[in-house]
Amino acid sequence: MKKIFFYIIAIIAVSFTISIMLTKNVETNEVSTEEVEKVENNFIKLLHTETGSVEEIGLESYLYGVVAAEMPASYELEALKAQAVVARTYTKYKQNEKKHEQADICDDSKCCQAWISKENRFARWEEDERESNWQKIVSAVDSTAGKYIIYEGQPINALFHSNSAGKTELPINVWGGNYPYLESVETSGEEAYSTYASEVQISKDELIQKMLEKYPEFTIDFKKDDCMKILEYNESGRVKTLKVGNINLSGVEARTIFGLKSTNFEFLIDGDKIKFSILGYGHGVGLSQSGSDSLAKQGKNFEEIIKHYYKNVEIVE
Ligand SMILES: [Zn+2]
Repeated sequence: MKKIFFYIIAIIAVSFTISIMLTKNVETNEVSTEEVEKVENNFIKLLHTETGSVEEIGLESYLYGVVAAEMPASYELEALKAQAVVARTYTKYKQNEKKHEQADICDDSKCCQAWISKENRFARWEEDERESNWQKIVSAVDSTAGKYIIYEGQPINALFHSNSAGKTELPINVWGGNYPYLESVETSGEEAYSTYASEVQISKDELIQKMLEKYPEFTIDFKKDDCMKILEYNESGRVKTLKVGNINLSGVEARTIFGLKSTNFEFLIDGDKIKFSILGYGHGVGLSQSGSDSLAKQGKNFEEIIKHYYKNVEIVE
C-alpha cells in the first residue's frame, strides 16, 4: 500500500516537472515583440487624431503601422528598413519634444507621422498581396529592431518626405531653422516615380477667392503681364517668393494656399485658368522615400541610404 502511494506521488512529481519544462520551452520559443516590450517597458502613447483617444502601444508594433502608412510596400526592403529606422528615430525625437500633452506622438502625417492599423491597411491592399506585403514590413522593422539615428548622442529630428525631385531642401527654407545633419543632397532616379510630377489647375476666380481668405487686401489685374511672377528661388531650385497681384507669398505659403504638392513649381496663365506644374512631393527636407527606393535599387543598404540623407550621424541600438 505504501509502495502504491509512493508511485502515485512520484508520477505526480514527474508530470509536474515535465509540464513546467514544457511551459518554459513554449515561453522561450514564442516570445513575441509585445512580450519583449512589456519586459523592457518600451511603450509609447499614440494619439489617434480622428477619435482623440490615446493608445498605449509597444514601440516596435507601432512602427509596423507607421512603415505601412508611410511607404509603399512595393519599395525595396532596404528602403523599408531605412524608413523603419527613421520612423523609430523620429518617434524618440517626438517623445523628447513633448509636442502633445497626453501622448508621445500622433497619427497625423501633417503633425507627426502617419500610422495605420493592420486591419485598415489590409482593406486597402489587394487580397492576394496582403500577407506578403505585411510580412515585408514586419521584416523591415524586426531586422532593424531598436536601431535609431543619433547626432552628438541625441536622436535626430529625422524628417522625411515622399519625393525630392532630385534635390532635398534645407529646413531653414521651410520652417526657418536648421540642423547640422540636414544638408541639401542630390539623388538620381526619382523621376521614375508617380510622386515626381503633378499638376494643379485653378480658375482666376478661385485664385482670387483663395487669396482673399488669407489676405483681405488682395487685388490683382490679370491684364498686366507681371500680375503673377516668381521673384526668387532657393538654392535647391524651389520657389522662395511668388508675387501674386499686390501680395508677395513665400513658396511654402503658395504651396498651402493653392494646394500644391511641393514648392518646386512653375505656372502658366492660360485663358481663365492658372496651371501649376509641380515637381516632387512633400516639404523636401531629410530622407526622400522615392530617393531611398532608388538608392536601394542602385545597391545601397539601409545604413548607406540613411547616411546619404543625414550627415555625420551614427546608427545605434
Ligand atoms: Zn502630432
